[in-house]
Order: sequence, then C-alpha cells, then structure tokens
Amino acid sequence: MDYTPVLQQIEHELKPVIGQGRVASYIPELAKVSPHHFGMAVVAIDGSLHTVGDAHVPFSIQSISKLFTLVMALQLEGERVWDRVGREPSGTPFNSLIQLEAESGKPRNPFINPGALVCTDILCTRYAVPENAVVEFLRPLSGNKAMHYNRAVAASERRTSHRNAAMAHLMKAFGNLANDVDEVLDAYCRHCAIEMSCVELAHAARFLVHGGTHPGDHAAILGTSLAKRINALMLTCGTYDAAGDFAFRVGLPAKSGVGGGILAVMPGQYAVCVWSPALEPSGNSLAGSLALERFTTLTGQSIF
Ligand code: GLN
Repeated sequence: MDYTPVLQQIEHELKPVIGQGRVASYIPELAKVSPHHFGMAVVAIDGSLHTVGDAHVPFSIQSISKLFTLVMALQLEGERVWDRVGREPSGTPFNSLIQLEAESGKPRNPFINPGALVCTDILCTRYAVPENAVVEFLRPLSGNKAMHYNRAVAASERRTSHRNAAMAHLMKAFGNLANDVDEVLDAYCRHCAIEMSCVELAHAARFLVHGGTHPGDHAAILGTSLAKRINALMLTCGTYDAAGDFAFRVGLPAKSGVGGGILAVMPGQYAVCVWSPALEPSGNSLAGSLALERFTTLTGQSIF
C-alpha cells in the first residue's frame, strides 16, 4: 500500500489544527520548540518508507524512551520485571504520586514516570553509563549512528525534576529502587532527552511489527510473547490517562512523549510516528493524536 497520499491528505486536513494546544513548559528547554512543526513517517512491513512534513527533523523523544527502557529491562530481567512494576493503566497523570503511596511503591505500569524510573534503575544496576546503553541500543535499530541525547534538555529537566525525585525517594523508601536516587534521576533525564526523528523512531519500532525481531538485521530483540506484551501495554498504558480514548479513536498500540512525538505500531503491517509539539492536557500531541486517528480511518487499518 502506498501510504504517502494518505499522509499528504492528513497534513493538508490538519493545517488549521497544527499549533493548537500547548508546548510542554515544565521542562524549560522544551518550551523553546516551535508549536508549528508537523511530521509523520510510516515504515511498512516491506521496509518501504513514506513521509510528510518534518519527518526527518530530530525532536526530544521524552517518554517514548520509556518504551525502549522497558525493552532493555525485559532483556535483562525477563518476567521478573513485573515483581517491581505492574501492568494496569493508572488513570492518573504520568507524574502522579497518589497511587505510589497507596500501592506501597509499586508503579502501576512501566509507561508512567515511576515505572520508567524502576526500569532505569534496572539499567543502572547493569551499566556504568545507562543513558549511553540506551543510545547504543537505539543507534542500530534507528539507522542513525550519530544519535545522542541533548545535554541542555537533560540538565533543564534535572534542575526541575522535583516530582520525579519525590517518586524515586518514595520508591527507595519502599525498597523498590536498588541504586542511588540521584544516579537514577540523572540517567532518566538523559534518556528522556534523546533526540530522534519520526523516520528514526518508526524504524526503531519495527521489531514490534514483526513479533520481536527487527527485520533490518534480523536481530531478535525480544521473543514473540514479550513483544505481544509490550504492544498490549502500549495500547492500555502508552498514552497516559488518555489511553482509553486513544484506543477508541486511533485503535493502535502507541507510546507518546511530552516532546510531541507519538510512536504507534500495527502488528504485521507498519510502524508509524508523528510529531507535533503542541499538547492536549493529558500530555499527548494534539495534532499528532488527530493525525493517527485520521490515518487508521483513511487506511482502514487498525488492530480493531
Ligand atoms: N521527561 C519527562 C518527565 O519525566 C517525560 C514525561 C513525558 O513525556 N510524559 O516528566
């Protein structure tokens, strides 16, 4: 299927909407990004690439990194990860502390901040420089050997990450963080600040389209069962407390970030990534969510 005309139609339809919403400003460095960007990339099962707009422009992947830190934690620990992180939607914002206290320091799922902090803690136990391990994991998958994290964005988040520090300390008090809190927060803010384009992210997610094996170099990233579990978690928890509405409107497993990116997969068909920095109140890209909704409607392809 040639997805390019569909992407062009979506960009045209969404022109009046692009820029509506608010760019994340609680990380001061992210507030500098123009809300008027829009890019979209599809990598189909046959490897063909279809793009529109700013699909090649790198942006801050933020919480999309939680997808990859979960994959790496599962590679290291297998199903033992679930002893420390749950797999239920939270129904609360990604940086909420409420459930964490009530549920004895075990985060609801790996895609809210405390869940990702636990996955980062697992990486801190295994790697001397965990953020570099995440970058090195992503370079071959994305096809960008020069990929890096943005030091100014990481430092900007680290200076203001009081809520994440509160969560990390609470989990440490409950015995659910093995490493030093500051070490975990440093690594977390750095992997959130990794910069990738829509094209690179869509390439990096191809193993989730192919049952855990990346078709480029046939590297087995995860077994089929764990790949299935990750897609299920993306559907139920990948877009924060808007996940139910997102499944209703879009119908694809997806992971979003406050940089304005949303990465989604249609198992057996394609990986798609959209970027537009202005967000709706849950923290998902406003134009990006609409674009994916139009994409599954116009192509008639969703998991439902
Ligand atoms: N780094 C961001 C934070 O911890 C990521 C949040 C997000 O993208 N939803 O707040």
